Amino acid sequence: MKTDKKRIAVVKKERCNPRACGDLCIKLCPVNRMGKECIVKDEKGKAAIDEMLCTGCGICSNRCPFNAISIINLPKELQQEPIHQYGQNGFHLYNLPTPFFGKVTGILGRNGIGKTTAIKILAGLLKPNLGRIDEEAGYEALLQHFKGTEAQIFFEKLKKGEVKVSYKPQKVELIAQQYKGKVRALLSNIDEKGKLDEYAKALGIDAILSRNISDISGGELQRVAIAATLLKDANLYILDEPSSYLDVKQRLRTAKFIRSLLSPQVGIMVVEHDLVVLDYLADMINILYGEAGVYGVVSIPKTVREGINVYLSGYLREDNVRFRDHELKFYSRPSLMSKSSESLIEWTSLKKQLGDFSMESDEGKITKKAMIGVLGENGIGKTTFMKLLAGELEPDEGEINEEIKIAYKPQYIEIEKDMLVALFLKEAIKKYSNQLIKPFGIDSLKERMLSELSGGELQRVMITHTLSKDADVFLFDEPSAYLDVEQRLMVAKTISTIMEIIGKSCVVVDHDLLFLDAISSYLMVFQGKPAKFGKIKGPLEMEEGMGLFLKDLGITFRRDKDSKRPRANKEGSQLDTSQKSKGIYFYS
Ligand code: ADP
Ligand code: SF4
Repeated sequence: MKTDKKRIAVVKKERCNPRACGDLCIKLCPVNRMGKECIVKDEKGKAAIDEMLCTGCGICSNRCPFNAISIINLPKELQQEPIHQYGQNGFHLYNLPTPFFGKVTGILGRNGIGKTTAIKILAGLLKPNLGRIDEEAGYEALLQHFKGTEAQIFFEKLKKGEVKVSYKPQKVELIAQQYKGKVRALLSNIDEKGKLDEYAKALGIDAILSRNISDISGGELQRVAIAATLLKDANLYILDEPSSYLDVKQRLRTAKFIRSLLSPQVGIMVVEHDLVVLDYLADMINILYGEAGVYGVVSIPKTVREGINVYLSGYLREDNVRFRDHELKFYSRPSLMSKSSESLIEWTSLKKQLGDFSMESDEGKITKKAMIGVLGENGIGKTTFMKLLAGELEPDEGEINEEIKIAYKPQYIEIEKDMLVALFLKEAIKKYSNQLIKPFGIDSLKERMLSELSGGELQRVMITHTLSKDADVFLFDEPSAYLDVEQRLMVAKTISTIMEIIGKSCVVVDHDLLFLDAISSYLMVFQGKPAKFGKIKGPLEMEEGMGLFLKDLGITFRRDKDSKRPRANKEGSQLDTSQKSKGIYFYS
């Protein structure tokens, strides 16, 4: 419904620091200077802006030293009430994604753009207020708002109690903190379908049912959470980031299983940043665009291929909205930097035994300016091999020329000592202000403490910190975790730029194939049996490495003809069969 509101003013209260700036915005606002109360102090002494008095001049947002204020002059189409607004000067969400029964609907958008807010509303966990702060909108108001749309049908069903939602939240770590018993006990409690053993087997967690929740890995916990969600007898399943912590094999296997639960009466919604997985899993896509932390708009649904391609292009034709000033691009042959044949580190064939686990590698070397991607399942020895290269472990057999320094970003990030981001990144700020600090958006994090950062913010800070070290080889273990699509591709580009500048090399372990495709010029492949043995091959040329890895998985890939992004072929499809018969698992 239309409103008189012409603009939104959002104040990020965690950044607003009036004591440090001396209430600068209040002093500068021309409306205040004319004697009106456009910007005042809220009950905590922070800025509160009256959107109806504000003229949208932008002085306060331009001058705020902490980037705490955003003023958005709304285009005509958005001069309507939002679905939800988090309090005065809080985030605004416009429109909602539409669940379809009989289909998987994907939600695609940046971090902080309102995805979680939207699915919490659909799951009935958050009552929308239609922008009327401190008031919940009843079903009647919602039905009125969505009159004549698919969402109206959905909310009518919800009102009549015909929609039963089961929801998997993003942060599965919280389950481990809240629940102390065995995996089987947790799942039996929710198993409304009586299919615990069948689902556990399909998700590959049958062997861990007798373990304590507190003792299982992140990837296992993710699959337990997915099983718990799907075992409920619901007709709308909502899964927020189901692939975090899973390796490529587990991601695709889980996606296939989730799809297998569709029926004409059942709808599934997923939020997912791994575009290969999203592409494989979803039929339809809702794009969310806007400004992170300020406002989010949900687009009308599109088919999965078109939706992902439109998202990458940054332009929504039907709304004539350019929501990103550049396209996200892929190349058939990712050669982001010049290659060199000069060697940085070499190893003979190696062997290492750790408890029951053994691993061996062929001889290999890392050349200068090489971007090496690493592919392999969880538990197959990737971290152990990285530790051998870093000199933290000694091989039992074989030798590594270890006259080199290694900088390392581990998979699970722990803060050793809490401090201000600006202090932690002192070196990086001095060395790479333009190449690293700006593209990573670190400026707005400088005044925060490490312990206050979100997962994605901490990831960017840690990558920045690692890159500023004095080293020959930079190892990154799962740098894509917690990052959205834009951030993943930006990280790929930035790491390459820094390697090119300093003439060093990096090794990147990751499970997002699109990210690895974007960052790597060579691949190392880990084969074997998780927790038993690992066999390391490479670095190999990209096509050879991808082929080796995908053949092992039995999955073929093609490149999208428009966006050039890699796409997994559906198993048994014509392309899949024809590529397999020719032994081509990855097109480059
Ligand atoms: P996404 O899931 O796309 O990352 P979210 O829906 O979690 O985005 O958040 C969108 C915006 O809403 C963010 O700026 C976030 O800080 C804000 N937000 C989320 N929950 C609340 C809340 N309970 N109160 C105020 N603001 C919130
Ligand atoms: Fe005042 Fe609005 Fe201008 Fe900010 S944008 S200074 S609140 S009139």
